Amino acid sequence: MEKKLTILTYGCQMNVAESERMAGQLAKIGYALTDEIATADLILINSCCVRATAEDKIYGKIGELKKYKLQNPALIIGVMGCLAQKDGEELIKKSPHLDFVLGTARRGELPKVVESFESARKKFVDTSNVSGQIVEGEIFPIRAGSVSAFVPIMYGCNNFCTYCIVPYVRGRERSRRPEEIFAEIKNAVDCGFKEINLLGQNVNSYGKEFEKNFAQLLAEVNGIDGIERLRFMTSHPKDLSDELIEVMANGKNICEHIHLPVQYGSDKILRRMNRVYTVEKYLSLVKKIRAAIPNISLTTDLIVGFPTETEEDFQLTLDFLREVQFDMAFTFIYSERSGTPAANFEGKVDDETKHRRLNELMAVQNKISLEKNLQLEGTTVEVLVEGASKTDKNIFTGRTRTNKAVLFPHESERVGDLVHVKINQAQTWILKGNLETRD
Ligand code: SAH
Ligand code: SF4
Repeated sequence: MEKKLTILTYGCQMNVAESERMAGQLAKIGYALTDEIATADLILINSCCVRATAEDKIYGKIGELKKYKLQNPALIIGVMGCLAQKDGEELIKKSPHLDFVLGTARRGELPKVVESFESARKKFVDTSNVSGQIVEGEIFPIRAGSVSAFVPIMYGCNNFCTYCIVPYVRGRERSRRPEEIFAEIKNAVDCGFKEINLLGQNVNSYGKEFEKNFAQLLAEVNGIDGIERLRFMTSHPKDLSDELIEVMANGKNICEHIHLPVQYGSDKILRRMNRVYTVEKYLSLVKKIRAAIPNISLTTDLIVGFPTETEEDFQLTLDFLREVQFDMAFTFIYSERSGTPAANFEGKVDDETKHRRLNELMAVQNKISLEKNLQLEGTTVEVLVEGASKTDKNIFTGRTRTNKAVLFPHESERVGDLVHVKINQAQTWILKGNLETRD
């Protein structure tokens, strides 16, 4: 009989991609996905620990899962991903209803671990070799969507920004072999996916092992038949090359969007964060990108409340935002991660100040995002339709090439279609409009 699997995914797109691979691996040993957690035979938590808020949420969820175990003692519960890597054995000590914990570099062994637990029911923890070999095999993921496919091209990070736990829980940078990436993309295209999204913590340092850099890889992927749209993330400003900008400017399927996390807008804080660029350098990079790709949309990440942040640093960041004019920014309150250098820095910022600064930062950026979107009112944009809205099946959602979300009403199915939508209402986060042509 078919066994049922629920995967609870937390954190970034990389975790979404990893969960899709876990589903593919476990299908081979008889597990089919279900959203109905109460009926699952196996629950996997694919976890995140980039901020304390994520961690708290996951620990809360783990507590909640105990009731399912009491109802069904045969249920298996495993923890994977970044928090599994970070807390390892502690997880089972704190929550004895958990059955296994597998670290980020051990995902390849998941079917083996599940099968051996099924027969021996012996608790198991393995977080070894965090920078270890990428396990590939012939498994293709079971993807969550049907339009856009996430394809990891590298794992890990070597940058050691002083606030960040990622290099510790994901290990050193390792690139997937180009032929494996191409095979996966071709398979996704054959399955009908129109958009490919290449993923890595720092995609611009791809390929050190193979003498094929990211710009070359992107150019080759752009040449694969059947891809309508090609995206990638994340780019570290220090590694974004002129060659890449040129490939983007000339690659007809490469979308006009770069997510370029700046993290902060003052040199003092950037230096303490170990970001290895200055505000001036970042601004000149933006200028170069915009000169080569005039309709590019730029998004970023920012952290407020980093140790030693003064009001002056913060005002510099607001000025910086006004100068760059990002299309959108993801803003975070600094979260101390034990084991990172910044956890030992003096000059902690109090919670009230952190929250006030976050609100001010968001207010400044939201105004800019709205202004940018308002410029699109009355224009027609190309939208790749992703699905119907959850609340109204006659409202479809999709994205522009610049990665802006668009809503438009329509009666019949259009998922996977490229359509033209005339924008009649711009908001801070979304655009609304009407279908213009059928193509
Ligand atoms: N590799 C990517 C993303 C890393 S994590 C990059 O370098 O941009 C995603 C975002 O989480 C980061 O860009 C950063 O803004 C935020 N982040 C990381 N560590 C954090 C911390 N300790 N506190 C708050 N935000 C953090
Ligand atoms: Fe973390 Fe910095 Fe690496 Fe991004 S580049 S994952 S922020 S250490």
